[in-house]
Amino acid sequence: MNTSSGFLEVIAGPMYCGKTEELIRQVKRAKIGKGTVQVFKHKNDVRYGKDKKLYSHAGISFDCEIIDKTKEILAKTDKHTKIIAIDEAQWLGEELVSVVQELLNMGKHVIITGLAMTFDRQPFVPIPTLMAMADKVTKLSSVCMLCGEDAVYHKRISKRSKINPLENDPSLVKSLKDSVYEARCRKCFRKKP
Ligand SMILES: [Zn+2]
Repeated sequence: MNTSSGFLEVIAGPMYCGKTEELIRQVKRAKIGKGTVQVFKHKNDVRYGKDKKLYSHAGISFDCEIIDKTKEILAKTDKHTKIIAIDEAQWLGEELVSVVQELLNMGKHVIITGLAMTFDRQPFVPIPTLMAMADKVTKLSSVCMLCGEDAVYHKRISKRSKINPLENDPSLVKSLKDSVYEARCRKCFRKKP
């Protein structure tokens, strides 16, 4: 790990691929090695409640700071912190790209998780840009709920609220909590729920 010149790792994939679990594994390991770590998540990420923790689907957790606006990351970054981790970064919009660039200029080791694509298979801003900038990209897959093959997509199966016409704009921050999603392989994505 080269902290003096900055290092960006992006852990991307569909829902249920274990992104957060991989991030927690890395920050826990860094802490054991006496690394200084700050972890951020957006306030809209309320999958497991509103407390200041990251949770993985597998049930492991790690303390984090909750932010509302993307620029808060810079204001809250301690100059002594070596590792900045940002979970579910697709909620933070295009502005995150310049924030990450600034963190890298400060020599930080930045680890980001995010959805590479939206539920309708569009690139999910800003994750593809960050993947292109990254020193290391870890692309995870999930397990297709229909056939058990590797799944690179997640599909929306149902939702309670009415469809918002703006919702297909991938740059919009949107809450996942009212919808049900399934991991799907490329072949099964076209099949009906
Ligand atoms: Zn499948």
